[in-house]
Amino acid sequence: MTRMTSLLERNEQFARTYTPEALGVPARQLLIVTCLDHRVDPAIILGLQLGDAPVIRNAGGRVTQAVIDDIAFLAFLAEQLFGRQSPADTLFEVAVVHHTQCGTGFLADPDFRRRAAEATGVPEAALDASAVADPRLTVKTDVERLLASPLLSPKVSVSGHVYDIATGRVTTTLDARYP
Ligand SMILES: [Zn+2]
Repeated sequence: MTRMTSLLERNEQFARTYTPEALGVPARQLLIVTCLDHRVDPAIILGLQLGDAPVIRNAGGRVTQAVIDDIAFLAFLAEQLFGRQSPADTLFEVAVVHHTQCGTGFLADPDFRRRAAEATGVPEAALDASAVADPRLTVKTDVERLLASPLLSPKVSVSGHVYDIATGRVTTTLDARYP
């Protein structure tokens, strides 16, 4: 037995009417970076369909080195596979979406953070870097971090947004910008 059993039944329903998507440029020319929180599913809150946009999720939706590496690889892949090789062509926009009531907000408290570091073995600095206490502030930090990275393709733009758990609304706090 597995808790997946009932979900596999849903998958069976899904597969009955499924049509596969060919590998191609994501229909929205968008890549979303957001929190892994189960209340923040971009497919649901933004109405994404299969083939619309890749999504990278981690605790807080933070722009870590691993996220930057993935974005650099996806930009390279898009250029190689889809022939968007003229300097004027753009590849995609990265939308960084942080949210209110984020569970990582507890990590802004030094005592909580110290105990979390002791219990998990994750360095305190890494836990501190994943904290989202004020999503407007952390979105700005992360958009700037990504724009400043030497690994970011000049054909990739970056925007910032905040999702409000209380209202279900996403607000754009930073318009898309190229590095
Ligand atoms: Zn979160």
